[in-house]
Amino acid sequence: MAGTAVRGRLSWQVATVAAVTEETDSVRTIALDLPDWPGHRAGQHLDVRLTAEDGYSAERSYSIASADGEPVAITVERLEDGEVSPYLTRELRPGDQMEVRGPIGNWFTWGPHDGGPLLLVAGGSGVVPLRAILRHRQRSGSSVPVRLLYSSRSLADVIYREELDQCGGSAEVRYTLTRSQPPGWSGFSGRVDDPMLARVAWPASQRPLAFICGPTPFVEAVAELLVARHYPASRVKTERFGGA
Ligand SMILES: Cc1cc2nc3c(=O)[nH]c(=O)nc-3n(C[C@H](O)[C@H](O)[C@H](O)COP(=O)(O)OP(=O)(O)OC[C@H]3O[C@@H](n4cnc5c(N)ncnc54)[C@H](O)[C@@H]3O)c2cc1C
Repeated sequence: MAGTAVRGRLSWQVATVAAVTEETDSVRTIALDLPDWPGHRAGQHLDVRLTAEDGYSAERSYSIASADGEPVAITVERLEDGEVSPYLTRELRPGDQMEVRGPIGNWFTWGPHDGGPLLLVAGGSGVVPLRAILRHRQRSGSSVPVRLLYSSRSLADVIYREELDQCGGSAEVRYTLTRSQPPGWSGFSGRVDDPMLARVAWPASQRPLAFICGPTPFVEAVAELLVARHYPASRVKTERFGGA
């Protein structure tokens, strides 16, 4: 039976685009209608396969932006020189179809039984699975304390800003802006470094559970900093989106 379940999860199915929402100038959320979706857990991802008329196909992975039990959505950032993301963020329209398989990944997931306190650290579109975790925590009524440290180039590049700002007292959300800061900016500036983590990260003595997601160099740098702050490697979960 387990074999059947795994085969079912990994086979391609046709998704219909239900809606697109522009999040920033270069990022959009794509809600998918997937009649045969087996359900997913916050933090998992799926694979998208696009096939051209001449049969050429390309596959990419995208984190699931929605919580357990919510309709599937992905949030895609456009890389101007990319092959797939410009199509997904510019051309794709409601009603269009593409192939999807998933959900994938059992390590980078969180549910209330996993506890906390939670430290979520995002670089750019790496906020996507962390947003799913935040939503799942809220929807499940969990009172696990959570802090999100989110690194973006500028305020205009912050994805889900309204939703994150509405987390209010339920989650502590801190931004760092690496390239430009608006006048009067009171958040952090620059890349995530140890002094920043000293102000945001839970002390290791509280046995925090950390999730780091974003471009590969960002994830590796932050994971190293947390391990140097005595977070056990087994409590530091990472998801690398790629990029040099
Ligand atoms: C598990 C997983 C989950 C992911 N989730 C998301 C998600 O939620 N949202 C999202 O927007 N992307 C996500 N990605 C990245 C995504 O799979 C693609 O790599 C991305 O959309 C670029 O594809 P492309 O075809 O447009 O670019 P490509 O044609 O593949 O690459 C174009 C250029 O960009 C570089 N590049 C590729 N990926 C990145 C990157 N992540 N950062 C910086 N440079 C890069 C390449 O080296 C190349 O030079 C995820 C990746 C993984 C592995």
